[in-house]
Amino acid sequence: MFEPSEHRPTEAIVDLNAIQHNVRLMLDQLTPEQKLYATVKANAYGHGAVPVAKAALEAGAKGLLVATVDEAIELRTNGLSQVPILVLGLTDPLGIAELLHYNITITVSDSDFFRLAYQQLEATNQLSLLDLYHLKFHLALDTGMGRIGLRTVAEVEQFIEDVSAFKWVEWEGAFTHFATAGGGPQDYIEYQFEQWQQLIAVVPDTVPLKHFANTAMGMWHPYEPKSDIIRFGIGMYGIDPLDRPLAELPEFERQLQPALQLISEIIYTKKVPKGHSISYGATYTTTTDEWIATVPIGYADGWLRRYSVIEVLVGGVACPIVGTINMDQMMIRLPEALPIGTPVTLIGKDGHLENHASELAQKVDTISYEIFCGISNRVPRIYLKD
Ligand SMILES: *Cc1c(COP(=O)(O)O)cnc(C)c1O
Repeated sequence: MFEPSEHRPTEAIVDLNAIQHNVRLMLDQLTPEQKLYATVKANAYGHGAVPVAKAALEAGAKGLLVATVDEAIELRTNGLSQVPILVLGLTDPLGIAELLHYNITITVSDSDFFRLAYQQLEATNQLSLLDLYHLKFHLALDTGMGRIGLRTVAEVEQFIEDVSAFKWVEWEGAFTHFATAGGGPQDYIEYQFEQWQQLIAVVPDTVPLKHFANTAMGMWHPYEPKSDIIRFGIGMYGIDPLDRPLAELPEFERQLQPALQLISEIIYTKKVPKGHSISYGATYTTTTDEWIATVPIGYADGWLRRYSVIEVLVGGVACPIVGTINMDQMMIRLPEALPIGTPVTLIGKDGHLENHASELAQKVDTISYEIFCGISNRVPRIYLKD
């Protein structure tokens, strides 16, 4: 992993006010019984897990969602010692002592986890930990995602029987995940919800948290009974799960505020005469005398080679990237001579222009999630908060 490069003008500016605005906007849609959990996996989709988690909790989130145990420990060791943290992926039973110690809630896909975890505690003379701590878990149910979780009523019934043997576990939740809520055939949502109802009917009433809603399911699909938890992810970062063009956004999505701006500066400019090539592969040749500027960002920062179709914003003007994007630098064409130090906006607003992540995602044939997660650790994150 890179350390952030502080001695370079390339930065991701994360507006925590926007995160809080988006959390409150979603909370307004929920009933008082429903809880919002902030999805901060993958370093909060590249926005920075600890600051985003703290901002979301302040705005009313009741729990945090991560993908791995390491992500959970990062939060626990940075001041988030009490809040529920659920690991959405599967974890290794050999790590049971750490899970107990850090009070991490896990997702299980079968009861083997408990058997293996118990054996591990036994083998390492740590069974006494179970006098102090209980292991909280949520059961994953696969209703059509085909990823993790039990698939049939028979499997769930068997699980219920098996889990009763483990007195040191606390069955806190059961959940599923929808494959097409954020795009794809919409009748598949109906199908998955039917599967969900069948499976969840078998889960004991003593399990308090039954949840199925990510951002898209939380915003658009008012299925009953409602999801006890909204696992709020992309919407918290201010982005429509479908990356629709801004002009086509419905009222609610239009109110989301994008939290992340990716900015840099011109570090060098020159007038290049007609007929000269720019960058690796000499794929671009000037067609007239052109002002070319160098910007210190490249694919090692997550600004990928295929992003060269994107125009960046300089002084309120959209400027094309010329030639291939390098590892650490790229070149752009300016409308006129501009001084070194002129700001360059890659993601975000500049005057009346905006490089919205959804729009960029459409342009480079991906989803905004991937653009955000790709911004590498070399790019310092700067936080704004009132
Ligand atoms: C990542 C994730 C979410 C959040 O999804 P968004 O579309 O970003 O809201 C919710 N649930 C699960 C299981 C996830 O893996």
